[in-house]
Amino acid sequence: MSSIDDPITHYDRIARAWQYLLGEDFHYGYFRAANDSLKIATDNLTTLMAESGSVGPGLSVLDVGCGIGNPACHLAERYGCQVTGISTSPAGVEHARRRAQERGCSDRVSFTIADGMDNRLPDASFDRVWVLESSHLMPRKDALLAECERVLRPSGRMVLCDVVLHRDLPLSEVLGRAQEFIHLHYAFGHAKMETLRKYQQWAELAGLRMTELRDISEQTFPTFAHWRRQVESNSEAVRGLIGDDGLEHFRASCEILPTLWNQRLLGYGLMVAVKK
Ligand code: SAH
Repeated sequence: MSSIDDPITHYDRIARAWQYLLGEDFHYGYFRAANDSLKIATDNLTTLMAESGSVGPGLSVLDVGCGIGNPACHLAERYGCQVTGISTSPAGVEHARRRAQERGCSDRVSFTIADGMDNRLPDASFDRVWVLESSHLMPRKDALLAECERVLRPSGRMVLCDVVLHRDLPLSEVLGRAQEFIHLHYAFGHAKMETLRKYQQWAELAGLRMTELRDISEQTFPTFAHWRRQVESNSEAVRGLIGDDGLEHFRASCEILPTLWNQRLLGYGLMVAVKK
């Protein structure tokens, strides 16, 4: 397996560069107003997910694919919940622990290395499962959703946001777009996008009942213009961290992704499901 095919190595390597490109949150923005900054919009997405998933005081939340810990700290500070963040990236977990200490919320959040497709956490131990832009990195989404169901308490909720396919992609089209997908692959890691309908099928097979499926492609679209600006204003620092190739793959991705959005091939989805 080359380093790009291994999400652990990939995330360790790019985490610092991404802070320049994406900010402190490793996810898209949800733009409510045209002049929202990227920081406001990425916070908006966290808020939208929290509200959709009825995250509230005293609840225990599992954050699957916790990045460098910002969403987990946000949930603990703003919503008063107890959060366990998991990630396959040792550097991400280390970074997230430091962050929680600096923000003074380490009594309410903890981070540990675990795989979302086989997390080894006890059955029925969380009120909410939170999956923010990590599912596309997990090849076995059926296993991810089964694990989400297993660790939820009865009537607990899973809330998930991610980049999704709007329609199935025939192999001929994948081959025709090979160059575009290569850029995306090197910029964002070994990803596998699926349609919201497929997520729904896997969730239902796992014993979850979908209560909300929302297409938020339009509200996330302005993210690309912000990323483009961040690449240009931080190009030297990013080049120093991920090299010329890394910079070029990200730059190209900022052109390719909006095209795929406009062609209604890729988009962004939010889903909420309840454990039966
Ligand atoms: N949710 C965070 C980070 C999103 S980036 C945020 O919004 O800021 C994707 C995250 O998923 C990274 O932390 C990466 O290490 C993690 N990840 C990738 N594959 C994973 C897996 N199989 N299990 C758990 N985490 C995974």
